[in-house]
Amino acid sequence: MELALQGKKLLITGGTRGIGRGIVLAAARAGADVLTCHRQDGEAVDSLAEELKRAGGEHHVVRCDVGEISEVDRLAGEARDRFGRLDGVVNNAGVISHIPFAELPAEEWSRIIDTNLTASYRIIQQTLPLLGAGASVVNIGSRGAAAGIPLRAHYTAAKSALTGLTRSLAKELGPRGIRINVVAPGVIETEAFDAMPAERAAGLRDTYARKTALARLGTVDELAGPVLFLLSDFSGYITGETLNVDGGI
Ligand code: NDP
Repeated sequence: MELALQGKKLLITGGTRGIGRGIVLAAARAGADVLTCHRQDGEAVDSLAEELKRAGGEHHVVRCDVGEISEVDRLAGEARDRFGRLDGVVNNAGVISHIPFAELPAEEWSRIIDTNLTASYRIIQQTLPLLGAGASVVNIGSRGAAAGIPLRAHYTAAKSALTGLTRSLAKELGPRGIRINVVAPGVIETEAFDAMPAERAAGLRDTYARKTALARLGTVDELAGPVLFLLSDFSGYITGETLNVDGGI
């Protein structure tokens, strides 16, 4: 039994920035072959491709908006054509916005639900023929979904629904040897913090130093580790679970 993901074929959505980038690179360095996607072109795409080349293995970085069903279907086709099978899927791509519920437009509700929830339904469904016994699906939820967050009712609704999807699919797909779990991050310090006004970043660090048992924000690597564990054989009897990775909020 090895934590190393040597030779495993993985589909990880939203891998060019933030948490997804950390998971992609950690998985590649652990020996997996990774297909990942993004929406926008730019430096993050080029630098990820470079880093993956250095890690060795067979990796593909493709453009795909998972908020569009037809695009998701195309992505599943890419996984089939390039790898022929999948040992793991990580539904990481997500979007958020901060809007008072009374003013939340229907289009924004749909955008958030489509990307954070419907994409996961469609990706899992369309990659099912590629997932055999021993495969593992990880849905990236949010610790805030269980807690509730003002101005983010649409986002927490989508992330909470991921838990229901996960619980039901654990039972439906378990007899086929497919496991499915949620990893629910607390606040993880990604490169998005570098783009924030320094005062706001400092304020967040200060708030979560007080709110978490570990008295700090989480790192991308600290989130990638538990995801790799759930993709690996070490978690072979774990399914339908939500693993909070939140520093003890
Ligand atoms: P980022 O915004 O930093 O990165 C998101 C990544 O997903 C980017 O690579 C982005 O690519 C991609 N992406 C976004 N939308 C789409 C789409 N429609 N189709 C394809 N790719 C897409 O997010 P985080 O790293 O912060 O968050 C990752 C996940 O973790 C999300 O599901 C989020 O909800 C969850 N989470 C994060 C927390 C945190 O503290 N960071 C806390 C709780 C949950 P592109 O740049 O091309 O758009």
